[in-house]
Amino acid sequence: MGGVAYCEVMGRTAFYERVDSTLEQIRDDGLWKSERLIDGPQGGTVHVGGNDVLNLCANNYLGLANHPEIVEASHDAMAESGYGMASVRFICGTQTQHRELEHEIAEYIGTDDSILFAACFDANGGVFEPLLDQNDAIISDSLNHASIIDGIRLCKASRYRFATRDIADLRCQAATARDAGAETILIVTDGVFSMDGYLADLPSICEVADEFGALVMVDDAHATGFIGPDGRGTGAHHGVGDRIDIVTSTLGKALGGAMGGFVGARQNIVDLLRQRARPYLFSNALSPGLVGGARAGLRLAREGDDLRRSLAANADRFRTAMHTAGFDLTGEGHPIIPVMLGDATAASQMAEQMLELGVYVTAFSYPVVPLGAARIRTQMNAAHSFDDIDRAVDAFVVAGRQAEVVR
Ligand SMILES: *Cc1c(COP(=O)(O)O)cnc(C)c1O
Repeated sequence: MGGVAYCEVMGRTAFYERVDSTLEQIRDDGLWKSERLIDGPQGGTVHVGGNDVLNLCANNYLGLANHPEIVEASHDAMAESGYGMASVRFICGTQTQHRELEHEIAEYIGTDDSILFAACFDANGGVFEPLLDQNDAIISDSLNHASIIDGIRLCKASRYRFATRDIADLRCQAATARDAGAETILIVTDGVFSMDGYLADLPSICEVADEFGALVMVDDAHATGFIGPDGRGTGAHHGVGDRIDIVTSTLGKALGGAMGGFVGARQNIVDLLRQRARPYLFSNALSPGLVGGARAGLRLAREGDDLRRSLAANADRFRTAMHTAGFDLTGEGHPIIPVMLGDATAASQMAEQMLELGVYVTAFSYPVVPLGAARIRTQMNAAHSFDDIDRAVDAFVVAGRQAEVVR
């Protein structure tokens, strides 16, 4: 009896000490992420620490996060359909509007049907396990999002990884999977790599998939709503939309920025996910307000050629001016424009100084990006004016000179 109590105390004490020492280690490594408090809504400009600052670090690509039509649609949906569902979808959590949103998403991204999840994280977490088993193989880009990595871990299929955007390595991994006797091979990639601002080479990926009779899955979180014709995503952008078997994406970025994720695919895949995907079966239905807002966001995105034009013009202007100023940029053809700085401390100090200059940016360092490849990732959005962009560049030049990153 006494022994059990003693062990329990020791075990708990040791555990809490371990938590403290992990926290201390994170601080010592300079990797502590503190959350800035924003007062008021998300937008091209946000209120931080008593000041209005230009916001270059939200996924608010189309500037819809506080769009009056979305806010009103969300209000209306709540007035009509209430605040919460208090149920998973299959028990008593499906309203007509949930199905309508799923059909509208499917029509937009060009799939038979779609299925909503609480987040794209859940969509990726739940999509693999019901579809693939130990006889199958998944080949994943090395820079794929954490939720894809977790989803693959929850699935019994064999795992292969190819060096990011390296098509020769992808082909090599596919051959290895086939030689190992994989029944079904699924190649999975982010449509856009969010730390680097590059699009995946979907045409080449689809070619390799054809060679091996493989399926292709694309996570379009940083594309849905603004990449490709009408913002229909990277598959449409590259003209290979019909070859993509599974699309996952989020309602939490360009489409209004609230919450929710989805999988779009052929009808039988969506039907099977509704029966088997665990984050769908065992988690609450999206709230009516979110569904109503998302439907308005989707409509604004579909009709948002003007927004997409401003977004692209802003990105062009920023990239050109920053390049001219001498900054080392990465990425291409996307409003994510990382400013490469190398050293983690330099990057975070520069981000601090930028805030003092009225521009809110975030530094990213290991383990989010490779060691020695710290950067400030900027993201343009359609709510910015050319004046805003120029002001941001000016601030970068001031901070960059001080840090001796540019002359
Ligand atoms: C943001 C993101 C997610 C997660 O989306 P949520 O809906 O916020 O969970 C998944 N995949 C990628 C590539 C993302 O960028």
